[in-house]
Amino acid sequence: MTTISTDEQKAQGATARHVDVLIVGAGISGIAGGYHLQDQCPDKSFAILESKSTYGGTWTTHTYPGIRSDSDLFTFGYRFKPWMGKPIATAQEILDYMGEVIEENNLDQHINYDHQIDSATWSSEHKIWTLAGTQTDTGQPFKFTSNFLWMCQGYYRHPEGYTPEWPGMDRFEGSIVHPQTWPEDLDYSDKKVLVIGSGATAATIIPAMAPKAEHVTMLQRSPTFFITGRNSNELADTLRELEIDDDWIHEIVRRKVLFDQAAFAEMCFAYPDEVRKELLAPIQEILGEDYPVSTHFNPAYDPWRQRVAFVPDADLFEGIKSGKASVVTDEIETFTEGGILLKSGDTIEADIIVTATGFNLNVLGDIAFTIDDKPLDFHDTVTYRGAMFTGIPNMAWVFGYFRASWTLRADILGDFVCRLLQHMDATGTQVVTPRLRPDEQDMTMNPWVDPEDFNPGYLQRGMHLMPKQGDHEPWMHTQDYKTEVQVLPKADLDDDSLVFE
Ligand SMILES: Cc1cc2nc3c(=O)[nH]c(=O)nc-3n(C[C@H](O)[C@H](O)[C@H](O)COP(=O)(O)OP(=O)(O)OC[C@H]3O[C@@H](n4cnc5c(N)ncnc54)[C@H](O)[C@@H]3O)c2cc1C
Repeated sequence: MTTISTDEQKAQGATARHVDVLIVGAGISGIAGGYHLQDQCPDKSFAILESKSTYGGTWTTHTYPGIRSDSDLFTFGYRFKPWMGKPIATAQEILDYMGEVIEENNLDQHINYDHQIDSATWSSEHKIWTLAGTQTDTGQPFKFTSNFLWMCQGYYRHPEGYTPEWPGMDRFEGSIVHPQTWPEDLDYSDKKVLVIGSGATAATIIPAMAPKAEHVTMLQRSPTFFITGRNSNELADTLRELEIDDDWIHEIVRRKVLFDQAAFAEMCFAYPDEVRKELLAPIQEILGEDYPVSTHFNPAYDPWRQRVAFVPDADLFEGIKSGKASVVTDEIETFTEGGILLKSGDTIEADIIVTATGFNLNVLGDIAFTIDDKPLDFHDTVTYRGAMFTGIPNMAWVFGYFRASWTLRADILGDFVCRLLQHMDATGTQVVTPRLRPDEQDMTMNPWVDPEDFNPGYLQRGMHLMPKQGDHEPWMHTQDYKTEVQVLPKADLDDDSLVFE
């Protein structure tokens, strides 16, 4: 890292520290960015800025009971570091794994914790980004400048989750908690707990709270698809027994998981009714013939339209079978002093209400972006391969996969950004900006994610904030790992969709 001593320094303020590349965020994506940059562009100086006082992002923010991945760690783990544990991991296991990556690669020296970035300004004159913010531990302002900005800030607002406004919430005499801001001292022993929501978070919290609580009720407006299975990987176990190298096991099992996932996704689209039956059958088997599985676990949408949450060892269903947990599919009329009155007229008593209702999409880390003094409206931009944006120079953003593990994309975009930086060095250029070519000015524009293809609530609420995509490459955000892993490494950087200066 250098301190800039040129005209830029005067322009940006004497305290600005300069690096070639600034990475925003020390979550799974930012740590991947640091690793790939160090590995593939060892001459580049870089810094990672992180608002929290530790790494991990999502896995630090969420501390609710049972917090775990719902993807397997062979693919949620990095390509370059074997995963040695069970496929579904706790937040702590993920943090331990990330900690090893940081330590083994000396990434700590590059991470600046407690750095909350508030603004990012691009100067075409100086060809640099200036990021300004506040050090949350000292209250001191800081400034960094960089040639390239690698946004790894995730996709949701960390400090608070999304809780809808329901009538009568202020009347409720118990506690209302959101999984994203779980109170450390929340005592739910022998309490009646009501969890609002039906996604992976609700499915995790319920079996984790059930043994200690008096009873846990899951209240959902509509059902979600779940897939159950043992939290183990037979192939990995066999290869371990055969004492195959860890690197090999990691790679082989990743390929197998990806193969199986792709086959499952194809089945969902080709034979949705059959897949539906296959997903529901094991639940019915656990809960017994009389249990109304079609009321509580049979969604109106087809499988894969929203993420299918994995329930390891069927713990959610075992909790229901034991009588310590139950599911109600209904709508909230109002909160009452002692719980919730439903539209059906039924009531649910509760001491604690957990609103597992998702998060608020955030755009570029809630950082105020300006390009040459003009405030950036991200929605006005069109994406280049779901990673860069028209009119935004020297910037890439890691937005992972919904249906496959997020980290797969963090790794392949790591390769892409490094190749782009190498290309700029080789061509002696300093600025790269995606721009629509003359014959693409009237291209049909589509939302960042096709709502027909994938439509969770947080995306529907926030789509108007997100960039658009065009109707052909390279202006698309495909969410298709199988294609991207082939296409991105070969993407032609000189096809005039990227303008180099
Ligand atoms: C509970 C939960 C479980 C999930 N489970 C899975 C799963 O099993 N599989 C899967 O593929 N995906 C899962 N996801 C999606 C998950 O968010 C991603 O997989 C992944 O962890 C995101 O990593 P990230 O580094 O891109 O972003 P994040 O984890 O969101 O990290 C971003 C970091 O950037 C920092 N940051 C943001 N803005 C600023 C700013 N202005 N200044 C400074 N720092 C900033 C944040 O503090 C944070 O540390 C899950 C999400 C949640 C909420």
